[in-house]
This record gives sequence, C-alpha cells and structure tokens, in this order.
Amino acid sequence: MLTLVCLFSCKEVRPKNTTTQEIQAPPPPAAVLGAPEIRVAVLRDAREVRIGCAHSSLTLSDGRGQEISKLPAGSELYVKLENNTLTVNGRVVPSTGLRAVADGRVTVNGAELARQLDVYLDATRPGTLTAVAYIGLEEYLVGVLAGEVPYDRWGAEALKAQAITSRSYALYQMKVHAGDPYDVESTVMSQVFKPGNHNNVVLNAAVNGTRGLVLTSGGKLFPAYFHSTCGGATARGPGVFPDSPAVATLNGRACPYCTQSPSYRWHAEIAREEIARKLRAFPDLAGKNIGTIQSLEFQGGSSAAPRADLVRIQHSGGTLTMNANRFRIAVGAGLLKSVMVERVAAKGDLLVFDGRGFGHGVGLCQYGSNGMAERGYTCEQILGFYYAGGELTKVYGDRLTASR
Ligand SMILES: [Zn+2]
Repeated sequence: MLTLVCLFSCKEVRPKNTTTQEIQAPPPPAAVLGAPEIRVAVLRDAREVRIGCAHSSLTLSDGRGQEISKLPAGSELYVKLENNTLTVNGRVVPSTGLRAVADGRVTVNGAELARQLDVYLDATRPGTLTAVAYIGLEEYLVGVLAGEVPYDRWGAEALKAQAITSRSYALYQMKVHAGDPYDVESTVMSQVFKPGNHNNVVLNAAVNGTRGLVLTSGGKLFPAYFHSTCGGATARGPGVFPDSPAVATLNGRACPYCTQSPSYRWHAEIAREEIARKLRAFPDLAGKNIGTIQSLEFQGGSSAAPRADLVRIQHSGGTLTMNANRFRIAVGAGLLKSVMVERVAAKGDLLVFDGRGFGHGVGLCQYGSNGMAERGYTCEQILGFYYAGGELTKVYGDRLTASR
C-alpha cells in the first residue's frame, strides 16, 4: 500500500535487519501493526496525578507487581506525594513506583493516553512525581503531529514529511534511552505530544500513509532534528549540538521556503538582569559567578547564514563563552527565538535583539516544509531537500496484524 517514490534510495528493511536490531524496542503488542511502544514522560515535576480509565477496568500495582486496587470503568483515583511518600486515595503505599494497566486507555488528569502508565518518585528531581505512558509509536505520532504543526491548515505532503521525521526522531531516542526510565518527553525538549487526537482523519492519513517509514543515513538511524523556521538557512548539526553525530544528512543548506513564517524575522527586548538571572540558574553554568551583563557577541556563522555557534558574554565579573544554542535555551527558547541574530544593541537596562528564524535550525524547517508542499513538492522531495543524502527505510508496517 505504500507507493512512495523516493528521491533518495528507498530501502525495504524487514524486522530483524540491522536497523531494527539497533533500535532495541520492546516487543510490539499485537494491536499496533508491528510498531513498538514508546515511553513518553507525559507529566514531570508533579506532586499529584489523577488516574482513571473511561471505558474499561484498570489494575494498579506497586513496584513489585503486587496489585493495590482494581478500578471499574469510569472511575478515578488520586496518586499523591506526601512527605516524600506515595499515597493512593490518601492511603500510604510502601513503594516508590506504581503501574496502571487497562484494557482500554488509562487517563491521566482526564486525558486518554495509553494502555499502561508508570508513576514514580523521580530521583533526578527530588520531591516530584514523573508519569510515563507506554504508547504505540504510530498512535504517538498522531499526537506529535497534533502538537507540532497546524495540521488543519498545512499541506498533506508537509504532514507526511513531519510524520516520517518525527518517527525517525522517536526511534533514535528509543535507541539512545533504552536504559533510561523513558524515551522522550512530551514537550519541546523532545517533540510536543498532544493526546486525545487518535480519531482525527487528517492526522491519521499522514501517519498511516507513511507507516513504518524512517529516515536513515548510510542505513542507520540518526537524530532527525527539526525546528519551526530556519530563517533562510538550516544549521550544521554538530555546530548546534556538540554531541550530535556528524552525519552528512545534517550539514545545513540555504532554504528559500520559510519566508511566510511569522518568525522569519523577529525582534526581542530582554532586561540585562533577566539574562543574568537565568544564566545563574542554568545547570550548565553552575558555580560560575555571573555579574551584570555588559555586552553579548554572537560568534560564528557566515554572512549568508549568520547563525552563531558561540556567544561571548561580557559581564561585570569577567568574560564567559558558551554554546549559542545552550545560551538560547537558558534565556528562554520562546524569547530568544534563534541564534541567527543579526543585531544586538543596548537600550538602557535592556538588550535589543533582531534575528531570523525560530528554533535550533538543524534538519527539517517546518515552515519551509509547508512552503515546499504549497509549491507542489512531494513528501519525498521535501525530505530529500532537508536531509540530503539520506534514505527512506521501512522498518515495520508491511502487514496489518502482528502475526509475521
Ligand atoms: Zn527555512
């Protein structure tokens, strides 16, 4: 049923082949067409979680698998963290984690999510709860498209390109985080996941129309980064993410397709003290004594693509040089929209920024992708443009049942 004609070499890779072995995904449940489940941290820094199941019963177990309670369909219970101890409906549970399993979907704070949900005391963030939902990858992608793009306005080919990109990104994260408590977060830290859209026709068409297709480079998965708007040129991966593998598919290139983005050009005015305060609180800079910000200089990039690799911060206590993208995240990725900054000027207590683009700039430019779709380019051509040299590889989804 897949009739994709690839711009770049199209390989059929069956399960058990190199790519799927590397992914090390959990065994696929029969209901999800051969796709693995992805573990999504749907809630972090919480002190209370409301769990239920609208259409079937739910079983709650402790960390040793001991059943704690069974909920009938349509009811809910409250998991709380009180004095660093878990309670369920006010009763203390001698465990640091809970597992809820339903025949239908477990609801978390009213949102229908997944067959299985884990809630645990997060040792990396003391005094908080993290909730991790196990979601079939294809269904997860429907929620990612809902969270990442204005699907009711964008072209079908751009939605398909986003589905393949997000599937590739997700599978790569599953490989990298196989030994961690979860694979991805449900925010911009990974890709935005918005539950409750599993019956949306437009979203399902984009996901089903690309089922099991991923981007590879030399036959291997790579982190298929994407961002909102490149501002005229995409970025080279390792320049932005020093830990990123130096794959040719993330080399960056000129992009003439995103000029319609509301963030193609942006202007921001940020108080010097706000920047200093955020830098002092940023974990990367723990122990640095940062005084009053005097000036900022974005370094690197070219006249055609003035996206900085580094930022040099002159402050009353000295000089500090840091990765420009990490600086953007420290200040606030929605405030300092990109590091393609064309001008920094002083205005009293403020620093004034004029820049282009929104996001880190690596890989697919979402507004550019839609710009290409509106000009009649196909999904394969869009991906071939932003991930030049890559391939499309099918890793599952040949059959509509898991019997293979
Ligand atoms: Zn662009």
